[in-house]
This record gives sequence, structure tokens and C-alpha cells, in this order.
Amino acid sequence: MDISQHPYAELLRKEMMPNIWCSGCRIGRIKNAFIEAVQHQGYNPDKCAVVSGIGCSSRIAGYLNLDGIHSTHGRAIPTALGVKLADPELMVTVMGGDGDILGIGGNHFLALGRHGKDLNIICMNNYGYSMTGFQHGPTTPFGAKTVTTSGGNPYAPLNPIAVALAAGYTFVARSTSSHPYHLVDCLVSAMNNKGPSFIEVLVPCMLFERRNKIKSLDALFLEKATIKETLSQADIHQNAFSEEISLGVFRDSQIPDRPAPAFAKAVKKKAGKKPRVTFKSKDSGIDYMQIRMEGTGGQGIVQGGKTMINAAMNMDPKLNSTLIKRYGPEMKGGSCLTDIVLSSQPVDYPFVEIPDLLIMMSGLITKERGGKVIVNENGTVVIDESTVDLSLLDDLADTVKIFKVPATQIARENFRVVVANNVMMGFVCKTTSIIDKNCIKAAIVKSAPPGTEEMNLAAFEKGYEL
Ligand code: SF4
Repeated sequence: MDISQHPYAELLRKEMMPNIWCSGCRIGRIKNAFIEAVQHQGYNPDKCAVVSGIGCSSRIAGYLNLDGIHSTHGRAIPTALGVKLADPELMVTVMGGDGDILGIGGNHFLALGRHGKDLNIICMNNYGYSMTGFQHGPTTPFGAKTVTTSGGNPYAPLNPIAVALAAGYTFVARSTSSHPYHLVDCLVSAMNNKGPSFIEVLVPCMLFERRNKIKSLDALFLEKATIKETLSQADIHQNAFSEEISLGVFRDSQIPDRPAPAFAKAVKKKAGKKPRVTFKSKDSGIDYMQIRMEGTGGQGIVQGGKTMINAAMNMDPKLNSTLIKRYGPEMKGGSCLTDIVLSSQPVDYPFVEIPDLLIMMSGLITKERGGKVIVNENGTVVIDESTVDLSLLDDLADTVKIFKVPATQIARENFRVVVANNVMMGFVCKTTSIIDKNCIKAAIVKSAPPGTEEMNLAAFEKGYEL
């Protein structure tokens, strides 16, 4: 039959057929039930979006003629949340497997219950990661054989219904791919619920059946499952196909009213009048120069680098200048550096290899690289002696100029520790004369947080006087 004659044709992508599912896989039935529910609701396809992660069941998004995103493994829920926030009018459904939604994306699954956004999560539980040859997953039954538990799964399976109820989903139901009419009913109810909805759909996987010598899970679902109008606490746990399975709606409620959060009112800092610093630009005469400022997160290393590059541009607008900042994921307290290259020619490589000027506010980077301070042998090191172990300089060539500045101590005693970078900047300005004083002061005014300009300038002057 030509697919265009199929009753679901409107919502299928013809060009994607045939699908990739194994012969005998029932995921297609769930796709069909979803189409039927969408049609039943009379939804305009332009108002429905489907988001999926990775896995056999996540392929559904690609076969549906709806806008959708086939996102990364486990990230379907946050992606769908983004879609919903961008267009709250859309009906957004996440389709995926137990491994994707409950395993890799488990934390997102929990978080959605708290967020309370109106998304439908259809979790096709086939008891493991099937696309990779059937590895065990969060719902693999105890003792079941998989690629990764060849001697039998030693772990207790997660109960998705119990978790969804505890997480705060407003609609929670269990169905199977062997009960398509029941499944359509659940899907329609989930679509009508205005909070986060979760449906666990049990579905057979041929690989799981083969490895565990199960003749037909489809037949077992039909034999063991009972659709119930009212469900008790015990029914939550009736989910083992070897015993009994309770199908039905465990919760269909409204999003509870939440009082508006009483956040502390943000105090708007009054930005004072910015001090005015005038400067004159001139030809700097710099041919090529590499500058590195290094320290730890929180010492204003990136800010210092920005001040330096803005000052260089103030001084000589024709100068080519680049800035690279590097810091680790820990940010505060972790190693941090800023590389600046000043050149009369275009800069094709912005990383500093051997700095001509090294401003050290911490010894952490040097220690990380094995204790070697890297600087041009005719270069200059300006070191914050209140924070850096001076023995790190012991192996430097005699030709290197070394200046020791108690920058952090001065900043602590006179201002605040955070302006130690500008004490260093004042000292560097006076000692090296690379960049004109007013050009740096204007750059400090530009990059200092509003209201702190005067303090940063005063710190700069302290270093300059030193
Ligand atoms: S591996 Fe299992 S879940 Fe995947 S398509 Fe085949 S039968 Fe379906």
C-alpha cells in the first residue's frame, strides 16, 4: 500500500521509511498510538514538537512529520524544556527509552517533576540499552542476562512509576505496547494534563528476549497485565512480567498552587560618576611583545589582562593586540592566566610561548608545570611576594630582571584584596614604562566594576609610588 494512503500518513515522514527497528519490535506501535492520540486531540501539527535522545525508541522523533529535535543521549528533557520555554503554546513530548530517560538523563527526569512544566515524557521501557546490543540499564530485571551482565544482573531494578510519583509528576501512568487502545487513552490524558506527565510503556526487545530465552514478551504482557480503574499502593510495585503487571493511571492531578517565591529584593547599586582620565595616543614603538599575567581564579587575572590590552589600544590604536584567557573548571582558586600579544604586524598565533613580561600573582601555574618559571632570559618578572613562593625564582637566569612587590598585602591593608591586581599594574607601569600611565588609568576606569573605579585607581597609584 502506498504510504500516502495510510491513515497516519499525515504525521509520518515517508522519506524516512523503512524504519530501522528489528522485525518484531513493538516500538512502532507506540509511535502509532502517539499519532492516534495527536489526531484524536485535533492538534495542529505546527503546534506539536517531539524531542528525543539516543536509542532505538528515540528514533521515533525522526519518523514523525512534526517539528522535533533528535538531541544527545540523556538530554531530551532539558532540550524539550528549552523548546517549551521558547514557545509555551507548543505541546512538547519527549520520547525515549529507559536508558536514555531514567539512566543517562535520570537527573533531568527528577528535575522536571520539580520544575512543573507541561511536558509529556513517554518512556519506552524495554529493560536495557538495546541499541548497543543490549547492555543492562536502570530497569533491567534482577538476574536478567545482558551484554554487560552475562552472569545475570546483580542490581535491583528502578521502579519508574514510584520515582515519577515521588518526583512530583502530575500525571503518571503505566501501559504496554501490547495494549494499544489503553496506551492511546493514557497519551490523550497525558496531553490534557497541564503539568509534567510521565507514561511508562513496557515494550519487548527482541535482543532481550533472545538472550534471556523468553519466547514472547508481547504474549507475557497480555497474560500478566491487568488494566485497572483504581490503583493502590501495591499496584505501583506490580510491574514484573514474570508475576503481575498493573496498568493504569496512578496520578492525574493539577499542578499544586505554589506561593510566589519571596526572593530578597535586589539592591541596585548606585553607580557613581565615573572618574575621567584623559590620555594621548602615540606610536608605541613596540615591534613584538608577549605578556603573561598568571595567578589563581579570584585574583583579577582576567581583569588585569583586559586592563592591559585596553591600555595598549588606548596608547597605540595601530598596534595589533590579542588576549587569551585560560582557567580551569574550578574557576575560583584554580590556576588562571591571561596571555597578551602586542605586535606591529597582524598576530597569527595569540598564545604566549615565552613571555617578555611575566606578572606572577600565584605560583600555582609554575608548580603545575613542574616548578619551572618560563620567561624570556632578557625579560622581566614582577612577582607578588605576599602570595608567591620566592624560591620558584631560584633557577632563573641572572639576565632576567626580577621585581618583588607585596601587592596583596598592600591591597589588604589599604583597600581590599581584590585590587591587588591594580597595585601590580601600577608597579609594572612605573618600572617597565611599556604603557603610558594615563592610558592604563583610563583602561582601569573602563574595566572596573561600577562604583569601584576610585578604589582601583588608588590601588594603581599605590603600586606606581612603590
Ligand atoms: S534492538 Fe530491541 S528495541 Fe531496538 S529495534 Fe531491535 S527489538 Fe526494538
